[in-house]
Amino acid sequence: MATGHEWRSELYQDASAQFARCADVLGLPDDLRTRLLEPRRALTVNFPVRRDDGRVENFTGYRVQHTLTMGPTKGGFRYAPGVSLGECSALAMWMTWKCALLELPYGGAKGGVRCQPRELSVGELERITRRYAAELIPVIGPDRDIPAPDMGTGEREMAWFYDTYSQSVGHSVPEIVTGKPPVLGGTAERRPATGLGVVYVIEGMMERLDTTLRDQRVVVQGFGNVGEVIASELFAIGATVVGLSDATGGIAGPDGIDVEAAGAWVAEHGGLAGFADAQGAGGGLREIDRSAVLELGCDLLIPAALERQITVENAPRLDCRMVVEAANGPTTPEADRILAGRGIQVVPDVLANAGGVCVSYFEWVQDQQKYSWDAIEIQERLRRQMRSALAKVWDAAGERDIDWRTAALTVAVRRVAEAARLRAIYP
Ligand code: NAD
Repeated sequence: MATGHEWRSELYQDASAQFARCADVLGLPDDLRTRLLEPRRALTVNFPVRRDDGRVENFTGYRVQHTLTMGPTKGGFRYAPGVSLGECSALAMWMTWKCALLELPYGGAKGGVRCQPRELSVGELERITRRYAAELIPVIGPDRDIPAPDMGTGEREMAWFYDTYSQSVGHSVPEIVTGKPPVLGGTAERRPATGLGVVYVIEGMMERLDTTLRDQRVVVQGFGNVGEVIASELFAIGATVVGLSDATGGIAGPDGIDVEAAGAWVAEHGGLAGFADAQGAGGGLREIDRSAVLELGCDLLIPAALERQITVENAPRLDCRMVVEAANGPTTPEADRILAGRGIQVVPDVLANAGGVCVSYFEWVQDQQKYSWDAIEIQERLRRQMRSALAKVWDAAGERDIDWRTAALTVAVRRVAEAARLRAIYP
């Protein structure tokens, strides 16, 4: 049996298909393809957690480290019902390419616990997080593997994770995890980092295409850590946000949605559902199905929620000029081909959402230096780093006449391949 059957999943097949296209462009030899494609380590853990009602329930968690060639591994952990070994493996691979594209000294990793966080109390989430952290101790460490937030996790979970690891080694180790609350060694601007990075990339792209952000009509799918920041920043800059959605519903507003008011509504009601109706008939908004938001007419469609949202099914109906992938893996390879055929360009996830891991890297560096940088410094460094990555992707696409995703991967994979060649094979 060929290697790798353990982590095969639809998402892993997507990531593999993208890699194969890039490996063909680079002419990578077969042995190096396998070495770079498949995850180096994967840990599966099953652990019991006491629920509030006294029942004991078993949860399954994972941590996948995709490549150990570039330094310690880095990547978030998520709490969601679909978490699996195959999903974590695909996401870990994308983290490797993202770090290489940004020239960060990390390989990629990803983890998570299969659960529905909305149905768990704060106490239950804390017990899950602490036990998951304890189970991971053999494979993580500030110089081995450094977790961070992802879907369903945030500063609160990072604080529990940091505390659990520190208790186990007997002293505080803030560098074990990034995305912590600032008072625990978190950095300025980590929370909005991914969204800000997306906006910096769009800004750079608009300059290259000789247009401005203000002229864009934008749809954002997802209104969480990433989507809300993107929508708010673009709204503040003067772009027209014509569609928004989250798990509770969608909104269409051809004349523009007041994103600040939508944010206040979500803070009070827990989701976007009901916002359009509450604005009244004069608001020009209407409630629509959350998946219909993807098909609204716009210039920039920004999926910022889940993977595999743009598929063969809806790609022929998208009504946008460009897709900017703020989420990880939102477009399937088949949908990619349809979009290319229709002249819709895709700014790939490994470039667009790399701002999160970039500022996580800044946090890790500050924790190690015991010295913190201010918000302006972080924003300037982030903007520089995102723009430099964009320039490399743009140039590679022009030189080889390839799409932006393949271009981004060629830049990243070449760097990791070169490192693997130089380190050679042990023993
Ligand atoms: P989050 O949990 O904070 O937010 C997810 C949002 O998506 C929520 O608003 C949720 O209601 C919405 N959503 C869920 N199902 C939906 C559906 N079917 N239709 C529309 N909306 C739906 O998660 P996040 O941290 O914002 O992450 C979003 C994406 O960005 C993920 O793909 C994640 O891997 C990626 N990402 C996150 C970071 C980060 O720093 N948080 C960094 C890089 C990439």
